Amino acid sequence: MTAATSWTIPEVRAALDARKISARELVKEFYTRVDRRNPELNVYLALSHERAYAQADRIDAAIASGDALPALAGVPVAVKDVISTRGIPTTCGSRILEGYKPAYDATVVTRLEHAGAIILGKTNCDEFAMGSSNENSAYGPVRNPLATDHVPGGSSGGSGAAVAADLAVVALGTDTGGSIRQPGSFCGIPAMMPSYGRVSRYGLIAFASSLDRIGPLAHTVRDAATVMSTLAGRDPLDSTSAGVHVPDYAAALRRPLAGLRIGVPEDYFAEGLHPEVRKKIEAGIALLEKLGCRRVSIRMPNTDYAVAAYYIIATAEASSNLARYDGVRYGARVPGATLIEMYQKTRGRKFGAEVKRRIVLGTYVLSAGYYDAYYLKGQQVRSLIARDFREAFEKVDAIITPTSPVPPFRLGERTSNPLEMYLADIYTVTGSLAGVPGISVPSGKTAEGLPIGLQIYGPAFGEERVLQLAHAFEQAGGAHL
Ligand code: GLN
Repeated sequence: MTAATSWTIPEVRAALDARKISARELVKEFYTRVDRRNPELNVYLALSHERAYAQADRIDAAIASGDALPALAGVPVAVKDVISTRGIPTTCGSRILEGYKPAYDATVVTRLEHAGAIILGKTNCDEFAMGSSNENSAYGPVRNPLATDHVPGGSSGGSGAAVAADLAVVALGTDTGGSIRQPGSFCGIPAMMPSYGRVSRYGLIAFASSLDRIGPLAHTVRDAATVMSTLAGRDPLDSTSAGVHVPDYAAALRRPLAGLRIGVPEDYFAEGLHPEVRKKIEAGIALLEKLGCRRVSIRMPNTDYAVAAYYIIATAEASSNLARYDGVRYGARVPGATLIEMYQKTRGRKFGAEVKRRIVLGTYVLSAGYYDAYYLKGQQVRSLIARDFREAFEKVDAIITPTSPVPPFRLGERTSNPLEMYLADIYTVTGSLAGVPGISVPSGKTAEGLPIGLQIYGPAFGEERVLQLAHAFEQAGGAHL
């Protein structure tokens, strides 16, 4: 067995091809590491041993009979616990879904397994993907493997930590307002949010349906591109998935950068940006210029309203989506003397504080008296932000921003002030509202050694451009700036 700890997709393939390891042995190796590190990190909420070994045996049989192997053959994958997996507990990090086992697989899970990937288990996350630190999980926080008294980011904190701690080769996360990119940034790995409609949401348990997206967190941009090629494309089971041609993302990585115009929104570098983050993002932009990109100063004038609009729209949609957890259809029930009492006890006791805060806020902004003042305004601002992006992409090929205004923070440091936590979503919620793709790539570290993420936005369905820039940045040593 090889001594490698940090496997990438091509390394898995090479080791399988050379018969240095079998898929079964590889799965065993990963589960051994999980047994060792999970008690401390709290990354996995459920492990799917039986399903993983069955898939590994299929791959090993294919190797033995000399069959051509699919793109992700034998690659151990972690899946965020808001994505449905048949027969495997799927809790959304919530007590209200404790013990729930979906009767079907999400399309992304089906696609991964068709491509030969091995699902190791389900990763911890903020309850119903609401949060930026993974501290809102009903099953306890995840620790950042790079600094265990720090948060891994959220809401896909378990997925970020799984990859960073080498407890999976790649992981699936979901991003509604930053939940793939920000944990990618905090855990020091590339993490990609595709365009809205690029990847099927069938089987993704909804938080805010007009914003939710599924995407990869990986050790390398190349691995993220390979997973994107597997996930992307129209799915008849999701009417919002787009029938837009899916290019060969891995091939796009080879294209030269020379002459690409990178937009730097001056409005994004205003107050509130941590000085060490500012420094490394400036250094990152300089590196992209050295690689042949041309820096163009742009304006995104509606950025100031993005966090407010996001928290109105996302909570409105959440209040509607979460109405189904009523103690009747599935999930937990707390008995009560009357039907109303049963509803109240079930929802009152089984939802956590942040989820309830958002249901209340979302119900309020949708209520008859306040709909025009809040929800409608929020939607209007959303259109303006989408216009900011469209206009910017008439002048530039990509937009560069920090992923988060702050480096990873300590567990408990920010939990007492939800508003402060919301405000730190500023750079990610804009792209979420606009529907465009974005990736976070490591861009140096703080003096304390905590990772910083640089975000690259592209135009809708322009994932190749984003991946191409991120790959070149990574290859040029962006992580070590
Ligand atoms: N941090 C944001 C929120 O709490 C984003 C969450 C997400 O993308 N799922 O809503």
